[in-house]
Formats: sequence, C-alpha cells, structure tokens
Amino acid sequence: MRIVFFGPNGSGKGTQAALLKAELRVPHISTGDLLRAAVKAGTPLGLKAKAVMEAGKLVSDEIVLGMLEERVAQADARGGFILDGYPRNLAQCTALEQLLARIRQPLDVAVELDVPDGAILERCEIRFKAEHRPDDDPAIVRKRLQVYREQTAPVARHFADLGKLVTVNGVGAVDAVFARILEVLPRAVA
Ligand code: AMP
Repeated sequence: MRIVFFGPNGSGKGTQAALLKAELRVPHISTGDLLRAAVKAGTPLGLKAKAVMEAGKLVSDEIVLGMLEERVAQADARGGFILDGYPRNLAQCTALEQLLARIRQPLDVAVELDVPDGAILERCEIRFKAEHRPDDDPAIVRKRLQVYREQTAPVARHFADLGKLVTVNGVGAVDAVFARILEVLPRAVA
C-alpha cells in the first residue's frame, strides 16, 4: 500500500505513520527525518538544508526529491511505503506523481490529520522543551503553520479532487487517533 500522510508539523503525522508502518509492514519514509539525518551527518546537502529548516521554511524541491528518489528505490520500498512530509507543495506533488508513475507504484490514499492551530502550538511547545528542535520554537511553529496553509493545503485539495483524500480528526490520545485511521483506511483503498 502507498500512503501519503499530511498535516501541519505537530499534527502527529510522524507518530501515526510510525504506528502504521508496524501494522502494514512497509517502510515509513519521512523527508524531515532524511533531512535531519543529513544535517546531523554534516553532508553538503545537510549543510545547505540546516538554516532553511531552522527558519521553518521549505528546503528546495530539488534536494528533497533527490533524497526521496534514492529512498524509494531501496528494496524494502518495493511493496509500498508510507510517505510522511512529502509532498509539501504542488510542484512536489507533480514530481511525486511522475516518480510513482515511473516506478509503477500509484498512490492509494492520502491521509490528512486535522488538528487546530492552538493544539499544534501547545504540542510543539512541549516537544521544544523535551527535544530542543529549533523549528519547534513557538515563533517558528507559527511560520510553519503559515507555510502549511499557503503551500501544503493546496496539495490536500488536489488529492481531494482525485478522490484520494481522507481526513481524520487528529485531536486526542495517540491510540484513539490511530484507531480512527485504521477505521477509514480499508474504505479508502477499497
Ligand atoms: P518535518 O519533520 O516533516 O516536520 O520536517 C521538518 C522540516 O524539514 C520542515 O519544516 C522543512 O524545513 C523540511 N522538510 C521536510 N520535508 C520537506 C519537503 N517535502 N519539502 C521541503 N522541505 C521539507
């Protein structure tokens, strides 16, 4: 199964995608994690991405697509994958559709986690205190929410137009949100 997870930073998409990975036995591919690994390793690409990520902006489409293509080509992704954090704008959406057509792995469903801005700000503040991710700083979270609304929300509308979007209420305990996702998935891919 090929799934895309949507939702602003702090919506819980990473947590839910990781749970779903265990359920479906397909890899969880997070472009944010791939970028953070490159930053940590100090690769030339990571050095380029670091400041952009810390400012809460989007890393260039070219860099992210290159990383994604490499990851999707790995053997464990042949049977499907859960994409988390990609596509984040309409250009990435087109690039993804072209990539998936090329490898003959069409997307089954896009899952959008719906969480109000107030709850996002609260969650990111808690994570900021625990993990010290610079992009969880409240001022940066507001910037990321703006980027989401301007650039990523149109991608959700695109998948809705294709009849591939399911929206799940992302408020509540992790287990409760996961149960909601499991409930809608079979219907979405039937
Ligand atoms: P995330 O872990 O998905 O919240 O991503 C953390 C940060 O990595 C984002 O705020 C962006 O700066 C960058 N990033 C992750 N995925 C993408 C993407 N698909 N396109 C551009 N930048 C991305």
